[in-house]
Amino acid sequence: MGKRATVLGRPFRWVCDISIKVCAKGAKSLAGSRGRVHGFELGLKISKKMGGKKMKKTLLISLGTAVAVVLLVVLVSYNGFASADAYYPVHEQAAVASSSFTPFIRRSTMQYGSAYIISNPNGPLFAHIAFPIANNFADVPIFAWIHAIYQEAINDLNFLRETDNTTTGTLDIQFDSYLFDNYASIVLRGILDINSTRTNILKTFNLDLVNEIFLETWDIVDYYQAEQILPLITQQMLASNPTMGTFLETVDKTWLENIAISNDGIKIVTDITEVTIPYEKIYFALHINTGIIVVPPIIGIDASLPMVAITFDDGPSIYTAQILDILERYEVPATFFVVGNRVNAYRDTVRRAAYLGSDILGHSWDHSDLTRLSADAVRRQLQDTAAIIESVTGVYPHSFRPTYGRINNTILEVARELDFYMFNWSIDPEDWKYRNAEIIYNSVMATVSHADIILLHDLYASTVAAVELLVPELLAQGFQLVTVSELMYYSGVELEPGRLVRHGNRYVSLNR
Ligand code: ZN
Repeated sequence: MGKRATVLGRPFRWVCDISIKVCAKGAKSLAGSRGRVHGFELGLKISKKMGGKKMKKTLLISLGTAVAVVLLVVLVSYNGFASADAYYPVHEQAAVASSSFTPFIRRSTMQYGSAYIISNPNGPLFAHIAFPIANNFADVPIFAWIHAIYQEAINDLNFLRETDNTTTGTLDIQFDSYLFDNYASIVLRGILDINSTRTNILKTFNLDLVNEIFLETWDIVDYYQAEQILPLITQQMLASNPTMGTFLETVDKTWLENIAISNDGIKIVTDITEVTIPYEKIYFALHINTGIIVVPPIIGIDASLPMVAITFDDGPSIYTAQILDILERYEVPATFFVVGNRVNAYRDTVRRAAYLGSDILGHSWDHSDLTRLSADAVRRQLQDTAAIIESVTGVYPHSFRPTYGRINNTILEVARELDFYMFNWSIDPEDWKYRNAEIIYNSVMATVSHADIILLHDLYASTVAAVELLVPELLAQGFQLVTVSELMYYSGVELEPGRLVRHGNRYVSLNR
C-alpha cells in the first residue's frame, strides 16, 4: 500500500496560495513546556487620561483554578452584568487536528472560541462587551479581566455621580482572535467614555493550548533579541502612517507589552496603532512555532520541466547559515538531513531553514551506523531526531536518510513500523573527501539530470563555495531546485515506508 507524498512532514508549497505567502499545517505541540500550569496570573492595566491628568492603575489578580471556577459562576450572575446568549454564530473552534494530519488549511479565518456579548443598556453605564468563550482554561481569566474592567468603570462612574448624578458613561469592548493548533491569541480593545473623557482599553491574551498556560511577551519573543525588533516596528509604523515620526522616538521594549500571535506574524498592539512583523523577519527571536510555514513568494514549480533536489547531511553546523544565505538569495529550497544531537545548538538556523521552505528531515541522533544497532536503538535514533526537529520547526518529519546510506532488514522494519520514508541519493560528488568547490561543482554538473538527488554535507567551507557555484548554474541550465518532498510529489512516486528512494523517480529494491 503506497501513500502520497503528503505525509512527508510538511505542507507542500505548491498548494499554498502564493499571493498569501502563508499556509499552515496541523503541527503538533512544542516539545518544551514551561510550567506555571496551576492557577493563573492576570495582569490588568488601565491607563487613563481624566481631566488632563494621567493616572495608571495596575491590578494583579492571582487565583487558583478552583477559586476561579467558583468566581465564574458568581460573575455570571453578577447584578447588572448578566450574561447574554451567543451574539453571533462564530466559526466554531475547528476540531483541532490531533492525530490526523490535515495540511493546507489556512488559519486566517479561524476564530478562537465563540463570541459572547454582554450588554447592559439600562444603567448609567451603557456596556457592550464582546469576548470569547472556548470551554478551556482561559475562559475564567478572560472573564475575570472583563469583569475587573467593568467594575473599574462602574467605580469611576459612581465617583463622578456623587457630585453629578446625571453623569453616564459607555463601555465598549470588542475582540479579535487567532487560532492555531497549539496557540491562540486574543486582542481585546475597548473604549470607556465617561463625560466625553475617553479611556483606551487594551489587553492581549496569548494561550499555549497544549500546556494550558498563558504566555507572556517574553515567552513568545526572546527578550535579548527584542532590540532587533524595535527598528522593524518603527519601519512598519512609518510605512503605515508617515506622520507618526514623533511617537517613534519612544519605541522601546515596553511597546511589546501587548503582542499577539497572528496569521502573518507577531502583531504589536498599542493604544495608538498596531503593526504586524512578518514571521520571516523575526524567526530568530521567536520562542514559539505556530506551524505556519512561510512560503517564499516566487516559487511555482512546473512539473513538465526538469528538477533536482540538493540535500545536505550531517549538519547543522556553522556552515549551514552560509548555505541558507545562498538559498535565500536565489529563493530556492534544499533538504537538510540533520543529526539530532546537533540541532539544539543551531535551533535558529534550523528554524530559519524551515521558514525559507527547506525540508528538515532526520539523519539519526548521533550518526551511529544504524546497521549495527538493535531495532529498539534504531527506533530511538529515528524518533528522538524527529522529535527535536518538531520542537524547532513544529513539524514531525516522517522521513530520514540512513547514516552512510546503509540499510538492513532491521532498519527497514522499523521504518515500516514508524511509517518513515527513506531517502538516499543519486549523485555523490564526495565533498567530504575532496574539499574543493571546483571538483564538487564539476562532478555534479558532469552527470546531473532530471530527478537527481544530490548529496552534500553542510560541514565544510568548500561545500558552501560549491553551492555558490552550483545553484546559479543549475538554474541557468533550466533545473528547478526543489525539496525531496516536492521531487517525490512531482515524480508521482507512491512512497512506501521501509523502501529506500535513491532517485527522484525510482526506488532501490532491497530486501523486499
Ligand atoms: Zn551522514
